[in-house]
Amino acid sequence: MHGSIEYLTEDDFLHIIEKHCQQGVDYQTIHAGLLIEHLPKVKGRLTGIVSRRGGILVQWMLYHFKQNHLYTRFDDICEIFKRYDCSFSLGDALRPGCLHDDSDDAQLSELKTLGKLTKRAWKHDVQVMVEGPGHVKMDQIEFNVRKQMEECDEASFYVLGHLVTDIGADYDHITSAIGASMAGWHGTAMLCYVTPKEHLGLPNPEDVREGLIAYKIAAHAADIARHRPGARDRDDELSSARYAFDWNKQFELSLDPERAKQYHDETLPADIYKQAEFCSMCGPKHCPMQTKITDKDIEGLEEALKGKGAAELMAVKSDRDRVE
Ligand code: SF4
Repeated sequence: MHGSIEYLTEDDFLHIIEKHCQQGVDYQTIHAGLLIEHLPKVKGRLTGIVSRRGGILVQWMLYHFKQNHLYTRFDDICEIFKRYDCSFSLGDALRPGCLHDDSDDAQLSELKTLGKLTKRAWKHDVQVMVEGPGHVKMDQIEFNVRKQMEECDEASFYVLGHLVTDIGADYDHITSAIGASMAGWHGTAMLCYVTPKEHLGLPNPEDVREGLIAYKIAAHAADIARHRPGARDRDDELSSARYAFDWNKQFELSLDPERAKQYHDETLPADIYKQAEFCSMCGPKHCPMQTKITDKDIEGLEEALKGKGAAELMAVKSDRDRVE
């Protein structure tokens, strides 16, 4: 390619795709849904095109003034994928790069094309998952998931976030985990994790760890909201351990046991505090979880309180004290 994208030929692209298949990859992200007709729809966006592969394709298309070869040669790619049992990840080159651009005509036009390509790939007996955005306002998340399901006949949808605000630079594992949990709840099949370094630089191992934990939380919250059988078991077990002040079990059941213990031990490091019926938050005298209200304590209370005002409550109290 002589160091320049413009010199790439259609056959170069297909050759590289086949080479990846020969190396044994299970899927490849192919941005075949980006058409030259979609490009004018990008006008008016705040952040244009933010997909790396999308940017390369646009350069190529505008230089040659030709349709996207990944689209025109899609059936050839399907045949390669079928030969090597490789799946499609249909990439969204026109995904919005900011909240201002979400759910716009450019994004939805490409999604429509991705829906058609999904069905074409299925005809070749090749599996498909479809890539989704990126930056999406909270109130647009359900719409985006439903639209993808409708256009792509419920092919597995995976999303990059969604980031629900653009001002969280260095906290985008959080801004995106919020959207990811909602997308998961509404039916997204896979969540692509985001690290705190998103938009700022290449993540280091600690950033990756932070991103992964944030996404484990998002996916788990979505599973609970979708009432998946057994999804909440670990939560209930941890809550019981918490209520029983079983600190070691609480750490063990947490998603990040090491950090849970480290945070606890920052203020109460001695071993004896692993049996303590409080932590440093409310202290030994005011920990409300020490007040163990049993079912027996509140037995008959509902009946006794029915329709009573403050004065009558005093009378109820005297009655109860007399009985005890
Ligand atoms: S002290 Fe407060 S934060 Fe700590 S265990 Fe008790 S209720 Fe929870």
